[in-house]
Amino acid sequence: MNNNHLQVWNNCLAVIKDNVPPISYKTWFEPIVPLNLENQILTLQVPSHFFYEYLEEQYIDILRKTLRKEIGNSAKLEYNVVMENNHIANAKPFSVVVPGNNGTNTKNRPVSMPSDKEELTIRNPFVIPGIKKLHIDSQLNPDYSFANFIEGDCNRLARSAGVAVSENPGGTAFNPLVLYGDSGLGKTHLAQAIGIKTKELYQDKTVLYVSANKFQTQFTEAIRNNNKNDFLHFYQMIDVLIIDDIQELAGKEKTQNTFFHIFNHLHQSGKQLILTSDKAPIDLKGMENRLLSRFKWGLSADLQNPDYETRVRILHQKAYKDGIVLENEVIEYIASHVVNNVRELEGALISLLAQSTLNKKELNLELAITIIDRLVKNTKRELSIDYIQKVVCDHFSLPIDVLQVKTRKREIVQARQIAMYFSKTLTKASLASIGSQIGKKDHATVLHACKTVNNLIDTDRGFKTQIDEIDKKLKM
Ligand code: ADP
Ligand code: MG
Repeated sequence: MNNNHLQVWNNCLAVIKDNVPPISYKTWFEPIVPLNLENQILTLQVPSHFFYEYLEEQYIDILRKTLRKEIGNSAKLEYNVVMENNHIANAKPFSVVVPGNNGTNTKNRPVSMPSDKEELTIRNPFVIPGIKKLHIDSQLNPDYSFANFIEGDCNRLARSAGVAVSENPGGTAFNPLVLYGDSGLGKTHLAQAIGIKTKELYQDKTVLYVSANKFQTQFTEAIRNNNKNDFLHFYQMIDVLIIDDIQELAGKEKTQNTFFHIFNHLHQSGKQLILTSDKAPIDLKGMENRLLSRFKWGLSADLQNPDYETRVRILHQKAYKDGIVLENEVIEYIASHVVNNVRELEGALISLLAQSTLNKKELNLELAITIIDRLVKNTKRELSIDYIQKVVCDHFSLPIDVLQVKTRKREIVQARQIAMYFSKTLTKASLASIGSQIGKKDHATVLHACKTVNNLIDTDRGFKTQIDEIDKKLKM
């Protein structure tokens, strides 16, 4: 085998790079590994099934064009999907042949999944379709639609996965779809948007949105009234089940156990599960392992804090919906001062409106400055990772840049782990971003650091005292 495939793919990349936004290039093209080129078939390795679908959906045109230019008109593309996170222990990578040269109908091509996956989607033969249809209130809020959900880098992956799921509930690799992220970043909104869109596209599907707390209460009541089976049957008949804030089930073993059975039943009969959580599945505490491992069967996508541009667009949209016209300078002022999450952004806008109507003041920059400053002072300031590193180093009398140095010296390793631990607990930064800022480490190292520090806090009293002291300094 020669290295021709590398050359060909590099040439394609050069063209693609000029034609797609840098962030998309980084997300969707950099992770691709060219494997082979034979008989004008270029084989690309992609990290997941979703990845393949997304490429096909969004970028098939440019891929086709560049490939034809490089290899000729009968160029073909073959994907090799690494079935990571898969529950099938002996799953092997599988290939999907996608002709790159047959005009228009390459979009949304159904993909043959490995046979053991097919088995999972065989429908329960005992349920005769169409005979027993549930008519239930889906508990969806029509405001939480995709149309009202502003897209940004902070939510692109989660949103695209959500769209894919609503177009083909139960039929994509993202089952369950787990949406996670801090409070106020749009998990509930997005989860409901999927429900709303599914109902628009498939009127006969039964969609249900329920908070984990409500699920828990219903379960307790069912037990009390001796009708646990009704409860189970009800949930097992749902086509698209959305459970919000799944972290609330932590420590509730009986509910988790019942949810486990519901989950298995729905998943096996090709029904869709959408879960939200304030933490990544891997960080959820108090959950049964067998449940956590199932969460990893599908796709976990996180929602992050919106950047400035996205905050501006969200504000524009909210103002427009409320029928008010705001000067750009007012919007920009809010967007640059209210930075923590979308809920606070909305809150700021509502306060501004209330003040202006109640006190009959003009809604201008001056009013915005007074109100936003008051709001921002009242919300807790978010610590920066730099500041955390500084406080930790001061505490141990270490020079601050020492955390960036590659060394296995115990005291430095420990200081770095403590800085990572506080960055995880006190900021909204992701594991990966904490790692890159503290010693250029990867997310696994940060995770390990957090676990180590947690263990030591539980087992070593002297260590715990140190942590408490640093905690106090950080919160001063
Ligand atoms: P979470 O469930 O993550 O705590 P929510 O879904 O309740 O957050 O979102 C908080 C508020 O912010 C909601 O009113 C929601 O409509 C709004 N919101 C969040 N993200 C977006 C977005 N991308 N575009 C528009 N509104 C958003
Ligand atoms: Mg929520």
